[in-house]
Amino acid sequence: LAGRGFRPEGTVITFPNGVKVGGEEVVAMAGPCSVESREQIFLAAEQVKAAGAKFLRGGAYKPRSSPYSFQGMGVEGLKLLREVGDKTGLLVITEVMEISQIEVMLPYIDCFQVGARNMQNFNLLRELGKVRKPVLLKRGIAATIEELLLSAEYILAGGNYDVMLCERGIRTYETYTRNTMDISAIPVIHHLSHLPIIADPSHGTGKRAMVPAMARASVAAGADGLIIEVHPNPDKAVSDGAQTLFPEQFAKLMDELRIIAPAV
Ligand code: PEP
Ligand code: MN
Repeated sequence: LAGRGFRPEGTVITFPNGVKVGGEEVVAMAGPCSVESREQIFLAAEQVKAAGAKFLRGGAYKPRSSPYSFQGMGVEGLKLLREVGDKTGLLVITEVMEISQIEVMLPYIDCFQVGARNMQNFNLLRELGKVRKPVLLKRGIAATIEELLLSAEYILAGGNYDVMLCERGIRTYETYTRNTMDISAIPVIHHLSHLPIIADPSHGTGKRAMVPAMARASVAAGADGLIIEVHPNPDKAVSDGAQTLFPEQFAKLMDELRIIAPAV
């Protein structure tokens, strides 16, 4: 079902407000790694919207490497996302970490995000196949493209065809960057699959200075969208500050992207 042959013309996902992913326009999803407070998420939303983002990202449930790091605001974070989404007209995307969160999240969100660490959580994927809300499925930390497509297959097999894939960097022997952004995955996925592909240059590099170049490269390679971490004050971010853009940097990047793709 994930193969190109199933839908040679490509999948276009239409959101309730008319925003399309997989169509002519490159779509930007932006916002902080984590929802931290009302002030932070409202300000971030205003800033990314002004720059042209169509989605607000922000984790309410966070998959942190250490159990002692900030784990997210949970339902309070979901409520803030919905409130600011309704106020600004931005669509809301946030990570689901386990099956029990699906029901809780449904009323508040526009799109589920499955994180790299859960790409092969097959029980979670199966449950997401039963819902009728789009899913962004991130590539696992050391997953092949084949494995990513097979994971997407779990969701599609349940009848949920609104799946977007996400290249967010993979682990290689290189340590300068947090992960190695696999730009080639973008044309490979377009060749093998009809599903839209979103690039995440924030987790793909781990370093703010490298994010704009990888974002431009991703769009030039044919990405259907970008998901980028942006925070009103990245140096104060509770998670992923080093790879998070300042709002002005994001606005400048969006202007640059419009030169590469007709509409961003
Ligand atoms: C995130 O988007 O903040 C995140 C945790 O991403 P990934 O699952 O790609 O590490
Ligand atoms: Mn993050």
